[in-house]
Amino acid sequence: MKSQILQIIYDAFETWSTQEEWACQKGCATCCTQNVTITALEGEHILRYIIQENKEQWLVDKLNLANSPQRPKQTINQFGAACLAGREPEPETDPSYSPCPFLEDAICAIYPARPFSCRCFLSLHTCSPNRAAVVSEKYIAASTAISQLTEHLGQREYWGNMLDVLVALLDISAYKTVADKLGDTPRIIGARANVLNGQPLPGFMLGEEDYTYVAPLLEEIFTTRIAGKTVEDILNGK
Ligand code: SF4
Ligand code: SF4
Repeated sequence: MKSQILQIIYDAFETWSTQEEWACQKGCATCCTQNVTITALEGEHILRYIIQENKEQWLVDKLNLANSPQRPKQTINQFGAACLAGREPEPETDPSYSPCPFLEDAICAIYPARPFSCRCFLSLHTCSPNRAAVVSEKYIAASTAISQLTEHLGQREYWGNMLDVLVALLDISAYKTVADKLGDTPRIIGARANVLNGQPLPGFMLGEEDYTYVAPLLEEIFTTRIAGKTVEDILNGK
């Protein structure tokens, strides 16, 4: 059921974000660095896609190429909890600008399974190494709210850099074929030490004006029904 909710979040955000004129196009990939954070649920979505595509060895080769993942010191919801309580959040380290290992000929090789961090990374003008992405403040508020919701859905499970989370998940029997090809148990144990745990939503980091803008998107997600229950009820454990 969590996977279904994740897909509902992805689909609702994709539809909602079409209200802006984005410059993003296939083959434009300056934004594809190793600074991608995911939940374990998203990691399993990627691993299932890779196994379905018979790309286990491909994944291992790619993981062996990765060199400098940025490791966040706090999750989005930990950051949000600190902000909402008036505490100073932990300062983060500088991001890595190394290309994402899943980028091939400027195209994402796991595009159908890419995580929310990648889905929400858009820009109103074409980026370059010297020209950062541009989005509105309201769009940042909306994508942050959905990142918080995605983490809430994946609470108490791994949360961290995509490359660490994917390796940390390899001790699950469903991904044994990948673990066997990696053949590096110490690395899997090390990856588990490098990830954080997803936290429940402490409240959205939305001002009143932002909330008006984001409310229709949240409403769309919360009122979608799965097996007779709304997503909101499921997330609230009803
Ligand atoms: S965010 Fe920037 S680099 Fe990434 S696809 Fe959009 S325009 Fe291209
Ligand atoms: S997973 Fe795909 S979309 Fe995300 S950074 Fe890597 S190549 Fe880009």
